[in-house]
Amino acid sequence: MDNLLNNEYYNKLGVRRVINCASYLTMLGGSIMPPEVTEAMDKASEWFVDMKELNMAAGDVIAKFTGAEAGLVTAGAASALMLQTAACITGTDPKKINQLPDTNGLKNEFIIHRSHKTNYDHNYRNAGAKLIEIGNTGGTHTWELESNINEKTAGIIYVYGPKQNGAIDIETTIKIAHKNQLPVIVDAAALLPPVENLMKFTQLGADMVAFSGGKGLRGPQSTGILCGTKELINAAYLNAAPNNEGIGRVSKVSKEEIIGLITALELFIDRDHSTIMKKWEQDCELIIDQINSKVKDVNIKYIKSPKDPNLIIDEDSTHPSIIISSDKFSDQELEEKLAEGNPSIRVRNTFEYNGIKIVTSNFHSDEAQIVAEKLIKILS
Ligand SMILES: *Cc1c(COP(=O)(O)O)cnc(C)c1O
Repeated sequence: MDNLLNNEYYNKLGVRRVINCASYLTMLGGSIMPPEVTEAMDKASEWFVDMKELNMAAGDVIAKFTGAEAGLVTAGAASALMLQTAACITGTDPKKINQLPDTNGLKNEFIIHRSHKTNYDHNYRNAGAKLIEIGNTGGTHTWELESNINEKTAGIIYVYGPKQNGAIDIETTIKIAHKNQLPVIVDAAALLPPVENLMKFTQLGADMVAFSGGKGLRGPQSTGILCGTKELINAAYLNAAPNNEGIGRVSKVSKEEIIGLITALELFIDRDHSTIMKKWEQDCELIIDQINSKVKDVNIKYIKSPKDPNLIIDEDSTHPSIIISSDKFSDQELEEKLAEGNPSIRVRNTFEYNGIKIVTSNFHSDEAQIVAEKLIKILS
């Protein structure tokens, strides 16, 4: 059994260990970096470097693995979203870069599906973008996209978030955008793994794509990836730190984080994801078997992950999970009881599901057992 309760740094602060049943959640610390990544960051901390040289070299690695013309390490996907809109608004014009987030007199409208709106809208608006909403969860007509394009439009946003209902498909969106000489900027923050997704949206013709570095990639929690055309990535970089005349100076990435992200990306490409997925499934099955053998009156639903990466459109479908509900407790009571004590077992907000949802992708080796035992104790 891992000796994870002993961590002098957290213990000293009185901070509890969390068992993360919610997959890659920023609120719980994102993901755990592999030792190779923390070692690389340690080593990177020993030198000074020219940050522009490092950024360009890291960008070349991102370009290679995404198939895009260019890449940039950003401060989370959130910062990548801000830089996407900034790049579309300013291009490489230093006067416009200096003017943001004031977009007076500049093209600043971005069209977004209502069903694509998430809590991350602020990141677009941080650059001064004005969001023009189209469609609803029932559907979106192509005329809604076409008729909202005007001389103030700077780009089309496409988000792969938890809710995809009713959006025009990405291929059609790109076709309409490009017919109007407009870039399509994609938020694919949580869509890694599968590895194929690194290239997928660029291959479909998206002009810039954002990924989180601190979710499925298991890089530093504060990093992200932006890839895209040479021209737009250059424009994004001019808006970003270390340059200090643009809005991106508030979201800088350190040399250690850049090396950490690049190391995590290389490991991610080489990782045997199907073996790892099997372990996630085994952990689900362990919890299900133990509960079924010891507890009555409990409802368990097992959602095994889809095998076809083309079917994977959101984070929820990329991980096997279990939905558990009981007649004795409400979902919220179950959630609260799991969170009590140390380690604190955390599931995601439950109102979306009928029951609490347990995702095993962020478990350390012994944690499925701990979760099973605690559930049995609560439910018996
Ligand atoms: C997580 C997430 C983000 C933010 O990513 P960070 O790397 O945490 O900044 C943006 N958009 C979506 C859809 C996400 O799931």
